[in-house]
Amino acid sequence: MNALSPLSRSATTAPKRPDASSPYWDEALETRPREQWDAHTLALLQAHLRHAYDNAPYYRRTFDAAGVRPEDLRTLEDLRAFPTVNKSILRERQLAVPLLGDLAAVPEDDVVYVSASSGSTGVPTLSPFTARDFDEWIDFEARLFWSSGLRPSDRYAHSLNFSLFVGGPCVLGAQKLGALSIHAGTVPSERLLAILRQFQATALWTTPSYAWYLGETAEKAGIDPRRDLAVKRLFVAGEPGGSIPETRQRIEDLWGAKVYDYYGLSDIFGACAGMCEERHGLHWAEDHIHVEVLDPHTGQPVAEGERGEMVLTTLRKQARPLIRFRTGDIVSFTTERCACGRTSKRLLGVHGRVDDMIIIRGVNLFPSDVEALVRKDPGLTGEYRLVIERENHLDALTIEVEHRPDARESIDTLAGRLKGTLKATTGVGARVVVLPPDTLPRATHKAKRIDDRRGAVWTA
Ligand SMILES: [Zn+2]
Repeated sequence: MNALSPLSRSATTAPKRPDASSPYWDEALETRPREQWDAHTLALLQAHLRHAYDNAPYYRRTFDAAGVRPEDLRTLEDLRAFPTVNKSILRERQLAVPLLGDLAAVPEDDVVYVSASSGSTGVPTLSPFTARDFDEWIDFEARLFWSSGLRPSDRYAHSLNFSLFVGGPCVLGAQKLGALSIHAGTVPSERLLAILRQFQATALWTTPSYAWYLGETAEKAGIDPRRDLAVKRLFVAGEPGGSIPETRQRIEDLWGAKVYDYYGLSDIFGACAGMCEERHGLHWAEDHIHVEVLDPHTGQPVAEGERGEMVLTTLRKQARPLIRFRTGDIVSFTTERCACGRTSKRLLGVHGRVDDMIIIRGVNLFPSDVEALVRKDPGLTGEYRLVIERENHLDALTIEVEHRPDARESIDTLAGRLKGTLKATTGVGARVVVLPPDTLPRATHKAKRIDDRRGAVWTA
């Protein structure tokens, strides 16, 4: 029996493409009252837990061990009684039961697409999709793109990796929406600039640091992105920068384009959320993924708007349900109705990874906190690096930044200002080193911003 069948045709697949003047891809779904979201989530979750329990040996075993059954879920809060999973469990189960692991809930014959995580350590983890999973994913990608203002008249260039990377197929969302879709992939910057120029692409998807780098590279090559290129929308994902206003502003100034932040997760979907035209938070694909925001230490939910670890549960993905997947991302959410009329939850920001959270003399600090200040300062280029050392048994943070070529203020003034704003906004004291422009290594894709040298002190 397919436990999802009673719910298999909910309003996830819009019947037809809306008129280009419509702000919504699926108005009834996107603007429904908040309580309808919760009721729909609960119904989907009940069916999904049943599907996982009946078809995935891992879930049957772990639910039984925890003493919980799918029918125990009567409210959304009841989900907290169910066990969590994480990346290392996915890896371990995949190795124990090749190819897809025993969290998979369909036979391999029903799997039509698999993505693999780009994890820098260990074995890449696989994420399988049935044909229905894939189609539904692409449909809500189209919905997210539509909410960001993309229309059939656009020419959309997709500059993400296509090799087993879950971000690759997102281009099909733009294609489904009706945009002319350019499968650019990750090509050298000169080649990408030539593509953008030849096609006069109006939209581009890449990472925030690469958008910045590409804009600067264009300028150095004598191409003014604002005049010589036609990009009006930049979709970015993979790093916190797209939700940091100062970073967005700098990229927008370079390109003369609007930046829309997107959030995706290799183990679930290429994009799980994206910014609408209001660009205040990322609308969550709430009919496909349920969100919990928990204190990473106690496992208890944090108040709305507070920072906590994001724990995700798929609601419809048949091939490999993920029940309470601990993402390791520190986030904050709101359920307030957006000015665009959409009522789905909004991701206000990814503040960092649980692993990236730096504790300096007992105070929590994320690289994104520093990024916001560095990028707001008119005398600095916006590049930065954090070096953490232990001196006399105490943590010492040094922030390396670069002054702009045309900075009029002295090095001491620039350093003093950043030191002061950091202390005032985060409570953390730091040494600031102002370097000449182009000194720090330029990030291409995922930027490495932290050099934590404290471990060496203890192992020496
Ligand atoms: Zn909105």
